[in-house]
Amino acid sequence: RVNRTDFMNALEEVHPAFGVSEEELQQVIQNGIIHFDTVVDEILRSGQLLVEQVKSSTRTPLVSVLLHGPPGAGKTALGASIAQASQFPFIKLISPDSMVGFSESQKVAAITKVFADSYKSPLSVVVVDNIERLIDWTPMGARFSNAVLQTLLVLLGKRPPKGRRLLIIATSSTRSILSDIGLSDTFDSEMRVPPIANLTALEYVLREVELFPSSDERREAIHMLKEAGFAGSDDLSSRLSIGIKKLLSMIEMARQEPDNVGQRLTGALIGLGM
Ligand code: ATP
Ligand code: MG
Repeated sequence: RVNRTDFMNALEEVHPAFGVSEEELQQVIQNGIIHFDTVVDEILRSGQLLVEQVKSSTRTPLVSVLLHGPPGAGKTALGASIAQASQFPFIKLISPDSMVGFSESQKVAAITKVFADSYKSPLSVVVVDNIERLIDWTPMGARFSNAVLQTLLVLLGKRPPKGRRLLIIATSSTRSILSDIGLSDTFDSEMRVPPIANLTALEYVLREVELFPSSDERREAIHMLKEAGFAGSDDLSSRLSIGIKKLLSMIEMARQEPDNVGQRLTGALIGLGM
C-alpha cells in the first residue's frame, strides 16, 4: 500500500528532475505585472486559456505560442507569469542569460535536456525566452546558429510522449526574422505585446509605482507631456512608445533625486521621443 508519506517522499525525489524553477521565474517577474492597459489582461487571459487547453484537451498534447513585441515590452515577464500561474509540475525557462559562454553544441544539449526532462512530467511548460539571442542572430550579415535553430524547429514541433502534455511559450523582439527563417510557422498561436503608447497607460504606471508624492504632481507631469506633443493613442502624431521595462528603469532613476522628479522624467521621455 502506498500511503501519504510515501507519496510525499516520491514527490521530493522527483523534484530535481521535474522541478519548477521558482527563483528563476520570480526573478524575471521581479517588478510584478502592472495592469496599465486591457491588453495586459487579455494576454494573461489568453495564456490561461492555452494552459486550460493543454490540461484538458486530449487532442492537443502540444500547444505553442509566440509572444512578440518591441524590446522591453514585457514579453519575458508575461510569459513567465503565464507559466507560473499554470501550476504545472514542470516549469522551465530556457534563457540566453543562462547560456552565456556556451558553445553551440552545449546550447543544443542544454535546450534538448530541458525538453527531454519536460517529457517526464504529465504537464509541463517550457518558456523559450528571446529566441533571436538563443540562435545568436546577428543583423550584420544576417547570421545565426543553424544548429540551435534546427534543434528548436524539431523540438517546437515534436509531440510529447503518450500521456504527456506540454505548453511552449516563446518570446522574441524580432518576429519578422523568425518568419524569414521559417520559425514562426511552427507556433500554434501568436500574441503581440505592445509598448506603452498613450498617456492614460503611462499615468496608470506612475500611479502604481507611486513616483509622485501627490496626484497633483503626477497630473502636472502628464500635462507637461501633453504640452510636449505626447497626445493620446488615437492621435497619429503621438510619439509616445516605450516598453514597460525601460519606463520602470527611468522611473527608478528619476526617484534617486527627489527634487524635480516630474521634470526629469518628462525630460527623459521627451528626449526619447525626439
Ligand atoms: P527584452 O526585449 O529586453 O527581452 P522584455 O520584453 O522581455 O524585454 P521584460 O524583461 O519582461 O521585458 O521586462 C518587463 C519588466 O516590467 C519586468 O521587470 C516586469 O516585472 C515589469 N512589468 C510591470 N508590468 C508589466 C506588464 N504589464 N507586463 C510585463 N512586464 C511588466
Ligand atoms: Mg525578454
